[in-house]
Amino acid sequence: MNYISKNIYYDFIEHKPLDIEICDVTLRDGEQTPGTAFTTDEKIKLALKLDEIGVETIEAGFPVVSNNEKETIKTIVDLDLNARICCLSRSKKEDVDAALECGVDIISIFIATSDIHLKYKYHSSYEEMKQTALETLEYAKSHGIIVRFAAEDATRTSVTRLKEIFLEAESYGADYISIADTIGILTPATTKYLVTEIKKTIKKSHLCIHCHDDLGMATANTITAAEAGAKQLHTTVNGIGERCGNASLEEVLLALRIEHNIDRYRLPPLRNLSRLVEAYSGVKVAKNKSVVGENAFAHESGIHVAAILEDPRTYEAYPPELVGAKRCFILGKHTGRKALLGILRHRGYHDLTHEQLCELVDIIKECRERKQELTVNHVDELVKKVKEV
Ligand code: MN
Repeated sequence: MNYISKNIYYDFIEHKPLDIEICDVTLRDGEQTPGTAFTTDEKIKLALKLDEIGVETIEAGFPVVSNNEKETIKTIVDLDLNARICCLSRSKKEDVDAALECGVDIISIFIATSDIHLKYKYHSSYEEMKQTALETLEYAKSHGIIVRFAAEDATRTSVTRLKEIFLEAESYGADYISIADTIGILTPATTKYLVTEIKKTIKKSHLCIHCHDDLGMATANTITAAEAGAKQLHTTVNGIGERCGNASLEEVLLALRIEHNIDRYRLPPLRNLSRLVEAYSGVKVAKNKSVVGENAFAHESGIHVAAILEDPRTYEAYPPELVGAKRCFILGKHTGRKALLGILRHRGYHDLTHEQLCELVDIIKECRERKQELTVNHVDELVKKVKEV
């Protein structure tokens, strides 16, 4: 059964095969979720899962945060995963030294470029901070390491200034240039504009996009950036992260799989990884969360269930197994007779009369209208009840 079907309008828009890679930042930005701290053991388990999925880069942490953090990053480096390990560094030599000591593959050096950050965070001028950042970049490159140069709060920085600092960073040897939408104010249209403009300027460095979800557009902006030519896409599992979080790994991977035919990532571990991150971070996954939410493959409405029993493609964009999930039918106010009949047959009940079936539907609707909990597992009890009458 050909289940995966891209949007039918896809053929009418201009598109090229995407050249992308994922840098998952769950262990760094994700850990900056208010109230969240991962243990070393938890970070190891998450790194192993991310590697199993096939993300190209794992941002493991920020070494200067604590000694324990530094040791944890070293441990992750020692796992010798397929994914490259990256860590964060302010524009300070001591941060670069700490990163080098961890033995990571990539250092991500950042500097805020917006006037508001320069004034209230650095209390310094743009020229001065730019110089500091470029010197730090030069220092890191002198150790032969791959460097990502990130403009923090890039989306409140003029395009002219961004182009200038990115061009200079490139001339200092930056391998990756990163646009950070630090406070999450991009939209797909402004993302497309910004990425297109920056791509016109930089010559050989790869462009990265780092989106936050303050307006609920992090995934949309990330995919738009990829379509406009950004190579490295930053994600976190379940979209956790500062405030409203980052672009979610599972949403980005599914969009890449379905709309862009990128099938090299292993998606079945996603559900399990999501549950691990939920437990370790303490951030509950919303029931209606895309891909990994409890309701992602749950169906209640009679019309939907009846159609799904005939062919699941009627009301599902992709099969639950693709992401390690299971389809379930919920009994409730919207349960229909035909759907219930299908569910019953599925469970081996073939002998209910029309009257018994009608009664069962009434009981179910009435239970749920009283908000009484009712799952498909209650079916056996209910069938017994109507048969006794
Ligand atoms: Mn961030």
